[in-house]
Amino acid sequence: NAKKSLGQNFLTRPQILKDIVAAADISDADDVIEVGPGIGALTEQLARHAHHVLAFEIDENLLDVLDETLDPYENITIVNADILKVDLPKVVAENLDGNHTLKIVANLPYYITTPILKGLLQSSLKLDQIVVMMQKEVADRLNAQPGNKEYGSLSVAVQLDMNVNVEFEVPRTAFMPQPNVDSAIVKLTKREPWPVQPNSRDAFFKTVHACFAHRRKTLWNNLLGMYGKTPEVKESLTKVLEKLSIKPGIRPERLTVVDFIRLTNELEK
Ligand code: SAM
Repeated sequence: NAKKSLGQNFLTRPQILKDIVAAADISDADDVIEVGPGIGALTEQLARHAHHVLAFEIDENLLDVLDETLDPYENITIVNADILKVDLPKVVAENLDGNHTLKIVANLPYYITTPILKGLLQSSLKLDQIVVMMQKEVADRLNAQPGNKEYGSLSVAVQLDMNVNVEFEVPRTAFMPQPNVDSAIVKLTKREPWPVQPNSRDAFFKTVHACFAHRRKTLWNNLLGMYGKTPEVKESLTKVLEKLSIKPGIRPERLTVVDFIRLTNELEK
C-alpha cells in the first residue's frame, strides 16, 4: 500500500542498494542526509557504513516500520518532515557534529526531484557530494550542455558547483511498485571553481530562473520580464549586454554558466 502521490517506489533489489552505497563511497568519516527513507532499506545500508544518517520522511505512517527495521542501529535519526519545508541547515546543526564529510544519498520522490535538488544546492549547507536516484530524463538535464535541448535552469544551478556523473541506470522493474519511467543514479561532486564567481548566489539563481522563465523567448524578453519594460531598464540592459558581448536576441539556452555568472554580477551593479 505504497502512496503514489508521495512518490513511494521502494527499491527491492539488495544489489542496487549496495551499488548506491558504493557509488557514494560511504565510510565512517561521512555523515549522510537521506531524503525519503521509505521503509528503510537504503537507510540500513547507509547506517552500516556511515558515521551518522539523518533521514527526512514526510509520511508519518512509515515511522513505526522505520523504528522497527532500524532498531539495531544507533547512528540514525529519522525526522518526520517535508524536505522542501524543513530548515535544513538548522536541523543538520542540531543533529550532526560538523566534523564529518556531509553527503546526500537518496532514492528521490520523483514528483519533486527538481525542487529538492535546487533547494539542496541553493541552501547554505556545505555539501561535499550528492548521490541520488532520479528519472533518467532529469539526469540528462543535469548533464546537459549549452545549446542542447535539455539545457535549462536546473543544469545551470547544478553545474555552478558540481560535476555531474551518471553512474548507472536502473530499470523500472527494480522498484515496488514500478514507476512509469526508467531511472539513473547520478553522482554530483564539488567542481573546481569557475574563473568568476557570483557576487551573490541568491542573485545568481534568481537571474538564471528569470532567464529561463520562457524558454522560447529571447534572453532580452526574459530579462524585461524580470526587470520591467521601462525605458530606463532597456537602456541599462542594453549596456550590460553590450559590455558582455551577449546578443539580446539569443535564447537563454545559449548562455554558459560563466555567462550567467558575469550577467548576474553586472546586473547587480
Ligand atoms: N528510500 C526508499 C527506497 O529506496 O526504497 C524510498 C524511496 S521512495 C522513491 C521516496 C520516499 O520519499 C518515500 O518514502 C516518500 O514517502 C518520501 N517523500 C515524499 N515526499 C517527501 C517530502 N516532501 N519530504 C520527505 N520525504 C518525502
